[in-house]
Amino acid sequence: MSGEPQADCLFCKIVAGEIPATIVRETDTTVAFRDINPQAPTHVLVIPRVHYRDGAALAAGDPGAAADVLREAGEVASQEKVAESGYRVIFNSGPGAGQTVFHAHAHVLGGKDLQRLVV
Ligand code: 5GP
Ligand code: ZN
Repeated sequence: MSGEPQADCLFCKIVAGEIPATIVRETDTTVAFRDINPQAPTHVLVIPRVHYRDGAALAAGDPGAAADVLREAGEVASQEKVAESGYRVIFNSGPGAGQTVFHAHAHVLGGKDLQRLVV
C-alpha cells in the first residue's frame, strides 16, 4: 500500500513532469501516455497519479482512482479510434506476469489483431 509518490518510481516521475512522455490525455487523477516500446499501433499506458504497486493494490487503496483508470482506458480507445474495432486493457501484476514498472498501469492496445498479443 502507498498512495504517496515514490522517489525511485519512473511513473511517479512522469506524473511529476520530471521525465518526458508523449501524453495523450490527463485528468485530475490519471495520466495517459504512449508506451516507449509499442506492441500495437495504439499502445497507451493509463496510470493513476497516486502510487500503488499494481492494479489490485490501487483498487484496494483508492477505488475511485482505479475506476478512473478504467474509464480513461475507454476514453483513450475512443480518442485513438480503436473502440469500435476492439481493444485490450491489460494489467500485468508481478514479475512472473511481465510487470517491470511497479506503479499501477493499464496497457491500452488496439489497431491490429490482438488475439495472441503479449505485453
Ligand atoms: P509492464 O511490463 O510493467 O506491464 O509495462 C511497463 C511498460 O512501460 C512497458 O511496456 C515499457 O515499454 C513501458 N516503459 C518503460 N519505461 C518507459 C518510459 O520511460 N516511458 C514510456 N513512455 N514507457 C515506458
Ligand atoms: Zn509511482
